[in-house]
Amino acid sequence: MEEKYDIIVAGAGLAGNLAAAVAAKQGLNVVLLDRNPPEEAGKKTNWGWVCGDAVAESHLQFIREKLNTSFSYPELDVKVDGVVAISPNMKHKIRFDGEGYVLNRPAFEYKLLQMAIKNGAHHIPHFEVETPIIENNYVVGITGKDKDKQHKEIRAKIIIDALGIATGLRRKLPENPYVDKDIDINDIESTGRFIYEFDPDHVDLDYYDPKNALIHLNQELAPGGYGWVFPKKGNRINIGLGVQKKSLEIRNQKMGTKDNLHSLMDAYVKWNPIIKNVRLDNANNNGKGYWSVAVRRQLPSLVFNGYMGAGDSMAMPNPISAGGIGPALVAGILAGEHAATSFNNNDVSIKGLWKYNLDFNELYGKKTAGLEVFRVYLQSLNNDLINYGMQTFLTPKEAVDLSYGLVPELSVASKAKLLLQGAKNIAAFSNLVYVVKKMKELNEIYANYPKSPEEFQPWRHRVDQMMEEAKSKFQPNPI
Ligand SMILES: Cc1cc2nc3c(=O)[nH]c(=O)nc-3n(C[C@H](O)[C@H](O)[C@H](O)COP(=O)(O)OP(=O)(O)OC[C@H]3O[C@@H](n4cnc5c(N)ncnc54)[C@H](O)[C@@H]3O)c2cc1C
Repeated sequence: MEEKYDIIVAGAGLAGNLAAAVAAKQGLNVVLLDRNPPEEAGKKTNWGWVCGDAVAESHLQFIREKLNTSFSYPELDVKVDGVVAISPNMKHKIRFDGEGYVLNRPAFEYKLLQMAIKNGAHHIPHFEVETPIIENNYVVGITGKDKDKQHKEIRAKIIIDALGIATGLRRKLPENPYVDKDIDINDIESTGRFIYEFDPDHVDLDYYDPKNALIHLNQELAPGGYGWVFPKKGNRINIGLGVQKKSLEIRNQKMGTKDNLHSLMDAYVKWNPIIKNVRLDNANNNGKGYWSVAVRRQLPSLVFNGYMGAGDSMAMPNPISAGGIGPALVAGILAGEHAATSFNNNDVSIKGLWKYNLDFNELYGKKTAGLEVFRVYLQSLNNDLINYGMQTFLTPKEAVDLSYGLVPELSVASKAKLLLQGAKNIAAFSNLVYVVKKMKELNEIYANYPKSPEEFQPWRHRVDQMMEEAKSKFQPNPI
């Protein structure tokens, strides 16, 4: 049996629900496919929704305006004043002010799904998406299995891939220079995340802060990544960590250990002196999970003939923070808008869809290549250098600017007086100067994102060359 729609949205997560809600609102015949039942919309894996669930208020505001909606408890579980990144020796902190929320993810996703359905999208749950249907170098549909495990083919003018990081659609696209099929393992963080109820041992806001999202930078506890403690309602926390596989291997080798993600998670919970008598909060079977997140620039093009991608399927999370909720929300909305425009213009070629690339780049994507270089630099620093760097290299404002992809003025001359005369410190600082320069160059290149597919190849070649050069300069060096 073959079915036909104007638009197929594959994946009813953050990006998919919003893309479907927006395209359906514009009158298009939209089908939204997901393997989960409605009450489990957006569940990434059998292990649950697996996320820190922290999102900035500004990203929620974007949805409120675009879809004329509001959010409150229970989908917004706890309001936080900001994020605090803490150095390995716990002595230096960088505060990222800016209101945000820790979400009740199942409730939030359910609400987005209801929005899509209310706007007219046809939701098919229990549907496993398998492959794209390709004809004449266009994606013209998908194959998959319905709830009865029956093979299905569904066709549409545009297929929006919102299947998350493990998407099979992107990986089975025809060979093309626009949308990459693979993501380098070194650009992926393996993550673990638990939701616990606990008894606070005493008050120490560096380990648990009911009003702030805490990030612990520590190459022994979380090599190549970081650990987090985010508050939830009651005495509950969302606690987790991410590691880069290569950094973990080097750290294990140097320390003579055999740690893996699971043992690191357990160690991180034990390390925290405030979090005592933990009880797993397994509501919605979402208490304990492991998953992956890409920490690189988004894929160079988000579109191909008949195909658009949004969210983790396009590696959109922030390369420094791994925050992917914001970009998935932004991209979902833009993808829905642009899909409707291209459909109505009767041009679903890569050229017809190209403006989505430009708009995502403008609203979010233009800073991520620079941030990726900064991430690779951070992964090359051991705990001592991170401690020293957070104390000495940057003012708090410069550090915050950098993390947002803004490039501070930084000169060796002006900072040299702050440096101790250790060769390692000087090398780390001059590497930071190099990184800042590269960030500036990459931001400029992304400010001139190609206006059409014809201009794409030389632009991409330049980006790839610069990234390779920057990455070859830094090796993970956690210990
Ligand atoms: C441990 C961890 C912590 C994180 N913490 C944060 C954080 O605190 N803040 C933040 O901003 N970001 C965080 N992120 C990133 C964030 O979770 C993701 O960026 C976000 O979920 C991406 O949304 P998405 O809609 O693109 O994809 P997903 O959330 O992955 O949704 C994809 C949907 O597609 C469905 N699907 C997949 N394959 C198929 C298939 N073959 N057939 C049918 N359906 C399918 C899935 O079941 C799911 O419903 C974290 C990620 C991890 C792993």
